[in-house]
Amino acid sequence: MDVFWDRNRWQPSCKWHHDVVKQQLEFRFAKGVLTERDLWLNSSAAIALTQRERTATGADGWPVDARG
Ligand SMILES: [Zn+2]
Repeated sequence: MDVFWDRNRWQPSCKWHHDVVKQQLEFRFAKGVLTERDLWLNSSAAIALTQRERTATGADGWPVDARG
């Protein structure tokens, strides 16, 4: 079965996690940096990414560095 349609691999997520964290996880998985287990949003790789991205953006969603 196509991996995409395997419901055991489906995980609900908010738009931010889907657009930011999942994209980076799947990019790194495609490069062979992460394992399949790391693709879950509760993996240590996903949590580390979330914490890094969250501190890099302000409450308004803009990068903190860009505000000067
Ligand atoms: Zn989320």
